[in-house]
Amino acid sequence: MRPEILRENLLGWYATHRRRLPWRETSEPFAIWVSEVMLQQTQVATAIPYYLRFMNRFPTPAHLAAADIEEVLKLWEGLGYYSRARNLYRAAGVVTSRFNGQVPDDPEAFRSLPGVGDYIAAAVLSIAFGRVLPVVDGNVKRVLSRLLEIDTPVNRSGAHKIFQLPAMELVCPKQPADFNQALMELGALVCRPKNPDCLACPLADLCRANRHHTTADYPKRDASRKIPHRHLAIGVILKKGKMLVVRRPLDGFLGGLWEFPAVPAEKGQTDRQGVESMLAAETGLKIAVDRRLTKIRHAYTHFTLSGDVHLCRYVTGRVRLKSAHGHRWVTLRSLAGLPLHKANHKFLDALKSALGP
Ligand code: SF4
Repeated sequence: MRPEILRENLLGWYATHRRRLPWRETSEPFAIWVSEVMLQQTQVATAIPYYLRFMNRFPTPAHLAAADIEEVLKLWEGLGYYSRARNLYRAAGVVTSRFNGQVPDDPEAFRSLPGVGDYIAAAVLSIAFGRVLPVVDGNVKRVLSRLLEIDTPVNRSGAHKIFQLPAMELVCPKQPADFNQALMELGALVCRPKNPDCLACPLADLCRANRHHTTADYPKRDASRKIPHRHLAIGVILKKGKMLVVRRPLDGFLGGLWEFPAVPAEKGQTDRQGVESMLAAETGLKIAVDRRLTKIRHAYTHFTLSGDVHLCRYVTGRVRLKSAHGHRWVTLRSLAGLPLHKANHKFLDALKSALGP
């Protein structure tokens, strides 16, 4: 394959077909960085309003570093993968204190920041600073696997490094920013996971899968493993019109987010005494279960969750948490100001109806 022809075709297509997106209207490295962090696990349409709100509140690393992590998580609420927000927050602190508030353009310095891996480093350094580095995300892997008929499963560990090699050979040394964005855009708009539009593709003449009629066979994937399931007993513990919420440890899964106390339980385990003693062990409180409020289900990428939500009454005792880091007694109104994870949002309407105005 002649890389020059591929670059010319791809860049020509991108010049006329690129979507107008807010992060393409700026050359600010911090704004590009924020957008790439959001886009790592999130669809473009979902990310746009989050990006606009985030940049409006935190236009520079210094603004972000000076904020409270709780406010950052609140703005991220619903976007998922909260370690992205926590790492960005920590990185903004380092940029402010060590790099005078300027995003470093030196690859080693930038890669030393929390949360900056291969993808973020290549994306930000090429798009914001014009460094000749290949960006490899899910879209790029799909395009390359079809274009070159690469048999490596895209979801296998180590696949990233394998796809980086052809990406490095193809990236345009004169326009790395446009080239990388063009390849990702082609994957998003034309070389889609299902029904790639090969007739409209600027790389159709160069594409091996198109020539061999094998597009449906690429990308290869290892069979995905069965996703585990967890079941929880969740307690809304009421005391004088307020409810107990607890804060998850900052460095774990959903770290720093607030939630109602919850304990692992057997599915269908709804006997009052069992739920009362489990929640008592988790919170240090003696409580009484009044009734089951509702059931919820939620799916994360690596496990699914279901839960029975119980309306409970505080009886006696002081809060002594087993696994959470901090607690508050809140009204429904003050709960709205806390970053709460999605599984808890699923029963807020039922809770509001139960508690009344
Ligand atoms: S020709 Fe088809 S399969 Fe090949 S890169 Fe273009 S859209 Fe993808």
